[in-house]
Parts: sequence; structure tokens; C-alpha cells
Amino acid sequence: MQKTIRDLNLKNKTVLIRADFNVPFKGDVISDDNRIVSALPTIKYALEKGAKVVLFSHLGKVKHKGTPEEVEADKKKNNMVIVYKRLGEILGKDKVKFSDVPSGDTVNELVKTLKPGEVLLLQNTRYEKGEEKNDPALAAKWASFADVFVMDAFGSAHRAHASTYGVPEILKNEGKDVAIGFLVENEVNALSRVVHVDKKDRPYVAVIGGFKVSDKIKVIETLLEKCDKVLIGGAMAYTFQVALGKEVGISPFEPDQVDFAKKCLDLAGNKILLPIDGVATDAFKDWTKKVTVDGPNIPAGFEGMDIGPKTQALFTKELSKAKMVFWNGPMGVFEQSDFEAGTRAVCEAISKLHGAFTVIGGGDSAAAVAQFGYKDAFSHISTGGGASLEMIENDGHLPGIDVIG
Ligand code: ADP
Ligand code: MG
Repeated sequence: MQKTIRDLNLKNKTVLIRADFNVPFKGDVISDDNRIVSALPTIKYALEKGAKVVLFSHLGKVKHKGTPEEVEADKKKNNMVIVYKRLGEILGKDKVKFSDVPSGDTVNELVKTLKPGEVLLLQNTRYEKGEEKNDPALAAKWASFADVFVMDAFGSAHRAHASTYGVPEILKNEGKDVAIGFLVENEVNALSRVVHVDKKDRPYVAVIGGFKVSDKIKVIETLLEKCDKVLIGGAMAYTFQVALGKEVGISPFEPDQVDFAKKCLDLAGNKILLPIDGVATDAFKDWTKKVTVDGPNIPAGFEGMDIGPKTQALFTKELSKAKMVFWNGPMGVFEQSDFEAGTRAVCEAISKLHGAFTVIGGGDSAAAVAQFGYKDAFSHISTGGGASLEMIENDGHLPGIDVIG
């Protein structure tokens, strides 16, 4: 087990905390500040212990391959100043300072003037070209002013970037303290249970849906080893339907992944449950015709939008037996109320389980659960989608957590 922030002496130290402030926003309005709120226990603890706290995180995407104008536009769009404002509201304006650049002399000067009990938030780490490449020179700049590093960005822990990997690696080599924060500790505790499966947690049922098939399909192979049943819905299902020779109309499926889906089906025996009916429309937006089809064989010119009522019943029955559930990815296009029933039904089934251990991960999945009012039905809502899947795939390992040692 990694060292946690509790194990360290933080008094008068400059504590560099990698947080995950990659919040959803429009313009300068944050639509869900859950990620900021989730980072507070670690930040507040460090402040109470008399640390000078420096926070850094990425926000959105900055594509450094673009023209200088495009890079500037990405930077302008993903300016960390929105998080600075929110942090000021929460922690007190006088306590929180902001550097509008992520590294260099300006940062070094601001760090020097920082007092114990104060916070300095740095600009978006992805303003730096070297961040995603784990550039050692960039990592060295950040490491140069830190006495202690705390990893509290679970949602970024599957990425070996300069801020998540390079910095703790350097500090560790220098003999400085590196540790995980409370958020990461919570995530590791909850997710370890769905990775290293105990007998008492069986039957263990996984539910996989959503849209990012090539990102997510690999985890199904691992889940087949760990789980008793794997229920597949959402857009993920179409690639499997194609593998079975079914008609999917104009539903999105990934041709490159059909062979992998076949391999999973061969491995699965009767472990995989696919939809047996579906709701389809003649278009994704502004549709005029909506049909419920068995099979589901989706007619030409139609697109699958949700699992159907028979599948809801099938999945509900399977979930009612579960002692442990891991869920990633909505069952349908829940953002449109006509296609929320499948996702809602899975929420409902999980909410009826008593004494089961239930975990959900994924930004849209978590949003769906919140939207339908089922947040309290889960034992754990992970702040990491990709990170939680990779942790399962890699048997509990993530680079940004392993590096802490
Ligand atoms: P998460 O963010 O939880 O990891 P994804 O990003 O993979 O989930 O997928 C979420 C998106 O998948 C949602 O926006 C939802 O509209 C879409 N989706 C789910 N089912 C379907 C479907 N049958 N057809 C098209 N899109 C779907
Ligand atoms: Mg998503």
C-alpha cells in the first residue's frame, strides 16, 4: 500500500498536489463542480497541517499539433481561471492565489511568497507541450519547488504524464516525500474490491455500455475472468450484434473491433448477456419514427437508441442476484428522455440490492445516476472512467499510483 498524506509531516512544507480539476464547463460556467469538491478533503487537510499548498491539474484538451492560432484558441477555451474562481468561493478569496502560467519564473516567484495555510493554483498543465509527453525538463521545473508531492487525481492516474508521473519520479529519487491523497485512497480501496474478487462478493455482475467501444472493449476480456455475468448494452452492444451476424441498421459499431467481440463471445460461454430487444429511431436527432424491435434486429435506416423492455427485465433479473456490481457506460442515449428507460432500469435494479457492493465509473454514467436521483444507491461513484477501467484491466495497477511506490 502506498504512503498516504496522513503519513507525512506537512508543516511549513511546499506541498504540490496533482488534483483532477478537469470539470465540465460552458464558457466560464462550471456545470458540475464535483471534481473540485472531491479534492477538498486533501487540500483542507494539508492547509490545516500548516502546508503551503500548490495545486495543478489539466483542463480539457490543448492540441499542440495545431497552428499557433489553434493552440491559442484551445488555451483560451481551457483556462484554469474558472477553477480558481470556484476554489476562492469555497476556501476564501484571500487564501487562494493563481498563476496564469503553469510553470517557470512567475510560478517560482509566487511559490516563494506563499505562506502556510495558503493555496496557489497553477494554470492548466496542458498549456505545456511537454505535459502529455512526460517531458523530463518540464517535470524537473515542477519538482524544483516542491518539498512533498501528493497524487490526488484518480481520473488522470492511468496517464504517465509529466504532472502525474515525471514529478513524483524525480522527487522520489531525490529522497523527498510522495504520497496519495484521500480521494485516490478512497478510489483504490473501492476499486480493489472489484479487481481482487472475494467469494463473499459473488455473484459479481458487470454492466458495460456507453459509446467508446475501442476504449472499453478490452476490459470485457478481463471482466469475463473476474465476473459471473457481463451485461452489455448501450452503443457497445452493436459491435457484438454485428459479431453475431445481426442487423444493426445505421447504429454506430466499430468494424475494427468485431473480431475482438467474437473472441469475447467465444470465451464467454453463457457469461455475456446481450440485449434481446431495442428501441430504434430513423435518426439520432430530430427523428420522426421510433420502433421497438425484437432480436434486436434493427431495420435498415434505423439507429439503436436504448435497450428495450424485455432486455430491461432480463438485466434486472440478473442484477437482482448480484452481491457485487461494477457498471460503466449508459444503456442508451439517456440525455434524450425518450431513451432513458434502459439506464434508469439498471439504476432501479441496483437501488433494490441490499448489502451488495456497487460501483459505477464514467463521466456520463455518473451524470446519468445523478440526473435520475440514484447517487445514494451506489457504494462508490468513481471520479475516473478510463482510470477505473484500466485499473481492472491491469489487475489493480495504474502508472500514476504505482509511481508513488
Ligand atoms: P462514460 O462517460 O460513462 O464512460 P461513454 O462516454 O462511453 O460513457 O458513453 C456515454 C454516451 O454514450 C452517452 O452520451 C450516450 O448518449 C451514448 N450512448 C449510449 N447508448 C447509446 C446508443 N445506443 N447509441 C448511441 N449512443 C449511445
Ligand atoms: Mg463519456
